[in-house]
Order: sequence, then C-alpha cells, then structure tokens
Amino acid sequence: MKRPDLALCSRCGRCLAVCPSYLETGLETNSPRGRIFLIQEGFEHHPAVISCLRCGSCEAVCPNRVPLPEYLALSTKPEWPIPELVSEKLWPYLLGRGTEFFSRKISGPRTGHPTIFLSCGAEVVYPGATERLWTYLKSLGFEPGFTEPLCCGLPLASLGQRSAFLKKARETLTRLSALKGPILTLCASCLWTIKRLYPLVFKGTELEVKSQELASTIEETANFLVKLGKLKFSQVEGLYFHLPCHLRETPPGWSLPTLSVCCGSVGGKALLSKSIPRALARELVLKNPKILATACTGCYLKLRRVLKSPPEVKHWVEYLSV
Ligand code: SF4
Ligand code: SF4
Repeated sequence: MKRPDLALCSRCGRCLAVCPSYLETGLETNSPRGRIFLIQEGFEHHPAVISCLRCGSCEAVCPNRVPLPEYLALSTKPEWPIPELVSEKLWPYLLGRGTEFFSRKISGPRTGHPTIFLSCGAEVVYPGATERLWTYLKSLGFEPGFTEPLCCGLPLASLGQRSAFLKKARETLTRLSALKGPILTLCASCLWTIKRLYPLVFKGTELEVKSQELASTIEETANFLVKLGKLKFSQVEGLYFHLPCHLRETPPGWSLPTLSVCCGSVGGKALLSKSIPRALARELVLKNPKILATACTGCYLKLRRVLKSPPEVKHWVEYLSV
C-alpha cells in the first residue's frame, strides 16, 4: 500500500488559519505545514506530528489538496502496543461500554432502500439513533434495511494497525459493494474513511474501481434527506449541532444552530483524554447549549466522556420529527 504524497506542499501557509492545533498552541510545528516539514525531514514520529487530529481542515483549504490527514491515518507506528487480533475483535465491545449496546440490539431486514450502514457507532454506540432513522425512513414510505455489522477500519488505522485496517477495509468494501445504493451512514468519520481513504488505499489494486464506485454511492444521512426535502427536526429548546470535522459542512437547508469547532477526538489517546480544545470550550460557554447533537462516533464518545450534562450529548438523528 502506497501512502499519499506530501510533496505538493508549497509552504504557502493558507492552512494555518484553520488548523485547530496550531490555533490552540501558536506553534509552527503543530501546524499542517510544520508537520509536513517534520515528516519530510524524517521525523514522522515526532510528538507534534502524532498529535495531529486528522480533522482534514487543512486539506479542505489547501490549494494543492495536500492529503496530510490521509497520510497520517495510514501511519505505521502503533499508538499502543495492542496485538492486532485483540483490537480487531474487541474494538466494538470496548466502544459499547457505558452505552446502550448491552441493553439494546438492532434487528431488521438486511439491505433495503435505502440501506443503513451498521457501523460500530450505529450498532454499538447510538443504536437508539439508528432505530430512529429506520422509523423515520419508514414514515416517509421507504423500505429501509441495515447492512450486517461492519467497521470501516478507521479505529484500527488510528491505533496505527495498518494490516488490520487493510483487512477490515477490504472486507467492508467487498460487502458494501455488493449492495445496491443508496447506503446511508450516521458517522462522518466512516464517511470520510470510505470516501477518502479507501480510494487512496486501493489505488492500483483489483479493488480500485469498487472503491471509487462505493465512494460515490455512500451518503451522509442528512444529505440524503435534504435532497428529498425531508429533513425536519422536532422543536427542542437549547438544541445545537456539533459539526464533526470529517463532515466539513452542513447541507443546504440545515436548520439547527451549529458549533463548527473540532472536539479533538481523533486517535486513541486524544479520544481518551479528558480535555477539549479551548476554542470548543469557549463556544460552549458562549452558546450554552442544553443538548449537543453530533454526527460522528468519535465526537460522540469524546464529548460524552468529557462534558458534564448539560449539554447532553446525542446523535442528531434522534431529533428528526417522526
Ligand atoms: S499544506 Fe497546503 S495550504 Fe498548507 S502550506 Fe502546504 S500547500 Fe499551503
Ligand atoms: S488534519 Fe487538522 S489538526 Fe492535523 S494538521 Fe490538518 S488542520 Fe491541523
């Protein structure tokens, strides 16, 4: 597997203004440009490089679309020395601790129109939201279904377990490619992994075409509903949306007030850390939300772990007006 090329960085600095870790610390080494320089000089495992949140903000504004987050997501250095077999098998159950998973299991037809991607988050972390989406789609006249439980592999990539990630990605790509679209995801990071990482990882392999086709078939749920003109929320006082970095922007017609600030959840250690970026803390004080609804498993776990209620942390789908 070839990793993406960083050579296109012209050091223009346009990315500095959007990088959460640079804005937080003011240090060039914690900026996209600084990290690229460190990697190119052979310091790939420098703490400043490892601390990158892989949020993708730099790539979105970069004139050369330098794929730093994808490059780092395919890192070779394990964050923790966990055997691959253990993390691969236990990951969903570790995620499920303290969530609804052990009291609630998703059941329903396999495949449908549309088919809901039963990712680790959709199955294990917020199954109530997944069921809510299914009910909502039914109320619109669809015959929705679920995929079998699958993982996009990003948690393994974030732990630096490249071969386990590749195995998982290959399996998930093969299973999802066998379905007829549309496939809806509830997690921005799964979406990013499938749309951005898979085509890079499988470039030049027998799965290249399938990875590109899947990237154009899989959709974020809100986009799907917006296209139908069917995105309708319940009126709930103090409800705010936390925009995950991997989603980048809300679709047109999105009516919830939105906090577009990184929660700092990417990577195992960042996810477990009890701190949040100062910019997010400031926004929370300023807006004082009662409920913070997000769209990414990493953000959901991190915010739930760190924030004291209020705000209560939820998945936005739970506020669709059925
Ligand atoms: S990563 Fe892109 S935006 Fe940032 S300095 Fe390099 S070329 Fe410029
Ligand atoms: S991915 Fe995010 S945290 Fe990492 S360098 Fe780019 S903007 Fe900064």
